[in-house]
Formats: sequence, C-alpha cells, structure tokens
Amino acid sequence: MKILDFPDFIRDLVVPRVSGAYLYRCLGCQQTFGVDRLLYTCPECRSVLIIEDQHWERLKKTPGTLWRRIFDYRAMINEPALKGIYRFHELLGSILPLDAVVYLGEGHTPVVRANDRLKDHVGRPFYFKNDGQNPSASFKDRGMASAFSYLRYLMKTRGLTNVLAVCASTGDTSAAAALYGSYLVDGVRSAVLLPHGKVTPQQLGQPLGSGARVIEIPGVFDDCMKIVEYLSERYPVALMNSKNAWRILGQESYSYEIAQAFDYDVERLVVVVPIGNAGNITAVMAGFLKLYDLGIITALPRILGVQSEHANPVYRYYKERDPTKRVFSPVTVKPSVAQAAMIGNPVSMPRVIRLVEQFRQCAGGDAVQVVQVSEQEIMDAMLLANRNGHIACTQGGECLAGFHRAVREGRVPEGSVGVLDATAHALKFAGFQEKYFEDRFEPEFRVVPKEELRNRPVLVKPPHGVPCPEPGKRMDPDEFRTFVTATAEAVASLLGLNTAR
Ligand SMILES: *Cc1c(COP(=O)(O)O)cnc(C)c1O
Ligand SMILES: [Zn+2]
Repeated sequence: MKILDFPDFIRDLVVPRVSGAYLYRCLGCQQTFGVDRLLYTCPECRSVLIIEDQHWERLKKTPGTLWRRIFDYRAMINEPALKGIYRFHELLGSILPLDAVVYLGEGHTPVVRANDRLKDHVGRPFYFKNDGQNPSASFKDRGMASAFSYLRYLMKTRGLTNVLAVCASTGDTSAAAALYGSYLVDGVRSAVLLPHGKVTPQQLGQPLGSGARVIEIPGVFDDCMKIVEYLSERYPVALMNSKNAWRILGQESYSYEIAQAFDYDVERLVVVVPIGNAGNITAVMAGFLKLYDLGIITALPRILGVQSEHANPVYRYYKERDPTKRVFSPVTVKPSVAQAAMIGNPVSMPRVIRLVEQFRQCAGGDAVQVVQVSEQEIMDAMLLANRNGHIACTQGGECLAGFHRAVREGRVPEGSVGVLDATAHALKFAGFQEKYFEDRFEPEFRVVPKEELRNRPVLVKPPHGVPCPEPGKRMDPDEFRTFVTATAEAVASLLGLNTAR
C-alpha cells in the first residue's frame, strides 16, 4: 500500500525514523559503553553486555493501543527494510537508518495450530511457530539480520573496510552468518568455526555454499567458542555469536510476532523455547518485557525453557528453588539429538538470570520454568509432530516433549495455549530421523525406536522375468506395458487395494 493511501492518523508514524540513544550495559559492573564500536564483553570486567535505549521512556508517550496499530499497518508497507524484523524498528534497532537494513526474508514465520489428534495427545491446545521457515532455515536469521544491519551501519558511518565476521557454531549460527555475510559484498568476509563431526551434513553444506571460510575444530561447541573468544579479544574481527548483543535484539522479534499473531492477547500463552547458549530465551523474555513496559501487551505470557538431560546446566540451576542457594556450574555435555542446543556453558547465562528475575517480578514466581527431557522423548516428539503436519527439527521436538512433560506434571494451567518454537527446519536434522528409522543410534543416546513411529521405503519389483526400465535405454512398448501392469499390481497388493468398490 502507498503511504498516501494510509489513514491520516497513521501516515506519519508508519515509516519509522532514526531515534533513541543506544548503549551497551555490562551485566557485571553495570558500566555503560557507546555502541559506536564493536564490543562483546565488558572491557573492565569481561561480563556480557546488553543493549539499552537511554531514551526508552520517549516510547511511552505513544499509547500501547497506538503502537499496535502502527505495527499492524506497517505490515502493509511495500518497503523491503520493513518486511522483516524492522517492522518493530523502535523496539530493536531504532538508531539504524532503513538504508542500513539487511533483509533476506527473515521473520514473520507461520504459526501453525496442532491438529486435534496432537492436542488430545498432549492435553492442551498448542501451535508451532515455524522458525525453520527463515532463509537459512533457523531462527538465527533474526539475530543475524540485526547484527549485520548494525555492522553495515558501522561500516558506512565509520568507514570500516575489510571486516572479517567470525562465529563458532553448533551449525545454524554459521549457516546464518555465512548467508548474511555473503550478501554484503563490499568489505565483509566471513569465517565460521565448527566442532568437527558435530554438525549435520546440511549445516556443513550451508556456509560452504555461501562461500565462507569453514574451519573445523576438534571438540564440541564450547571449545570452538573459546577459540573465537580468543580471536575476538586479540584481533580485529566482528564476532557474530550471541555474545554479540545485537543478535539478542534481533531475536526479540520472535516475541513481537507472537504478540501480533495473537492480537496482543498473550496472557494465556505458554511460550516454549529450547535452551542451548541461552541467547534465544534471553531475547524472548526481553521482547515480552518491552511490550509489557510500553502497554502493547497488558499481561505477560508464561515462558517454558526446555533442555535435554544430556546438556542441562540451566535446568540444574533453576532446580534449586531457593534463589540464594543457586549456583551456576557448567556441565560437560553428552551427545544429544538436540545438537543445536548441546551446550554445557551458556554464554548468556548472566542475561537469563537477570531476565528471569525481572519476568518473575512482573508475572509471578512460576511465570518462567525450565524442564528437562530425555533423548528418547525428544525423538519421539519430533517424529510425532511431523506425522501430524509439522516440520519440526529435533529442537522443535524438544519443545513438544518439554510442553508435554510440563502438562503431565501439572505445570500448565487449564486454559493455556502453547506456542512452541520449531527453531529450525526438519530437513537440517534428517540424519537423526534416519537413525531412528534404521535403529542406528549410538548407545550413549539411549534411543529405542518405537515401531509405530518408524518408517522405511519399500522397493517393489515386478515378478521375476519381467523386464525393467534402465536409464538411457529404449524399451520395447509391449515389454514396457508388461512392466507397468505387473509393477502396478504388485503396488496395489502391497497397499491392500481392491478393485471392488
Ligand atoms: C541455536 C539453536 C538453538 C539454541 O538457541 P540458543 O539461543 O543457543 O539457546 C536451538 N535450536 C536451534 C535449531 C538452534 O539453531
Ligand atoms: Zn563490567
């Protein structure tokens, strides 16, 4: 829709302007630093940073109900920079001019209602939000759009050239970073560090296809992270991990979209998120808190974090109910099918601790909960979801397993509606499905396939002596007809088809 065709009351508001004053705040010593340079940890105490808008209060002059209209009308503008996460410009990047925005089709992913069979199985109605339908097929594109838009802005305003964007990854961060890096042809190169043998073939193919330098390291993600941290402290590189606070800002868009999709009525929602490095759950909580602060939503949803028993440091931390007795200790991870969340020492833990506290203050002690699930539950849940019309990855399966468990344990009140994060596309994790179907899981996963969830291809051949087609060879028409008839009858018999109607 053309700007002139918008109603008068919205016309001046529908295109966002540059505003606000952003700074990094250290979660350790509380000092602040300017965002005119790339900074990942506090130069004073090395704690993680978050981004704050010093002029945030100005946004409260606009009533929450008007903000809703602004975001809703913005959906109709044909301006690429506003097609993705920057529909919510004022909340997650108001200092960026629209010409800095890198838009590759991220965000506004579908919210798909579970059918009655799944709903009855789980005991509550729920939806999957399919973040696997982002351009690199995971939610990481949200944060990457933000981090690269900021980088592009820095390059323009500070004249930076020849920037090397680096990240460590469990697979999806590198796919997203390489994709966004490859779009910015002027002055950005990208390199990604992956744990050797710990990402799926699809996830390895993605950064290779985008032309990034792909470096494999022995060990797991936590080891790769230490190496890029070393690099970012000593060399002029742009760190694209979620340590980079701009990633968190972009990922807040997930919450804004949920609010919009439910007409800003989120009180009965239980938002279910898998936890790995904990950047995502940080962003989800931060996003809802901002909406609440501006009166765009009038109540907060519940948040349910899910971890595998094989990588459960956040679960263990919150298992202690007395806040004064909680101590965070990293765990050594064991192999997990939720490989993208297989992290024992989450970088964003200090952010989580702070936000859980804020969230619980506003919405009550049980507004944020963390559950753990077994590898078996994750696999069964993913396969079950996908047999009911979804495209959940193993982490999406983890969400379903966690939601189901929370319902069984009485933690999800009657009347609640789940919104489960299918964080990546099922195709990226097809290898785990294959292992399940073929019963080839290594013993440490302790996954025993359920026969009713297995599925394998069947090779049907015509009876012995009937000629078969071969590539590149012409077949005699009569022989071909014999082949078709005989094979079709074999298929019909396999499927139990009957000519009588
Ligand atoms: C990165 C990732 C996660 C974990 O998110 P964190 O922000 O690291 O907690 C979960 N699922 C998928 C598919 C991911 O790529
Ligand atoms: Zn500090």
